[in-house]
Amino acid sequence: MNTIKGNCLCGGIHYSSHLAPLSTAVCHCIDCQKQSGSAFSVNLLVQAEGFLVQGVSLGCYAKAGGSGLPVKRYFCTRCGSALYSEIASMPGVLAVKAGTLSHPRNSAPNLHLWCASAQPWVVIDRSLPCFEQTPTE
Ligand SMILES: [Zn+2]
Ligand SMILES: [Zn+2]
Repeated sequence: MNTIKGNCLCGGIHYSSHLAPLSTAVCHCIDCQKQSGSAFSVNLLVQAEGFLVQGVSLGCYAKAGGSGLPVKRYFCTRCGSALYSEIASMPGVLAVKAGTLSHPRNSAPNLHLWCASAQPWVVIDRSLPCFEQTPTE
């Protein structure tokens, strides 16, 4: 039984993990806004160990994140869906785009990152842990 399961828009890529996610983080960074084409991204933080990806259309784009270390962003080259990121400042953890989950409603956010660049009309639940950048900075 897979705890985490999801796929891209065209179905060309499927992923899964049998491990429970660590948390769900909303990221308001400019790069996530660009990549998602939206105001923020919702990311399930999962252990890289045990995360399985299947499909032939996986692409990767690497760019330095806010920490200056590379963030590798994986996506489907056929439909363009953003799927997950490998963040060098968080080794062993992947940030899986919650909108691609088979059951996204089970992943309500429990922290906010990069609130400093949040769009002014986004209402952030300040009862959750909120970081202006990331917890490491
Ligand atoms: Zn696809
Ligand atoms: Zn981000």
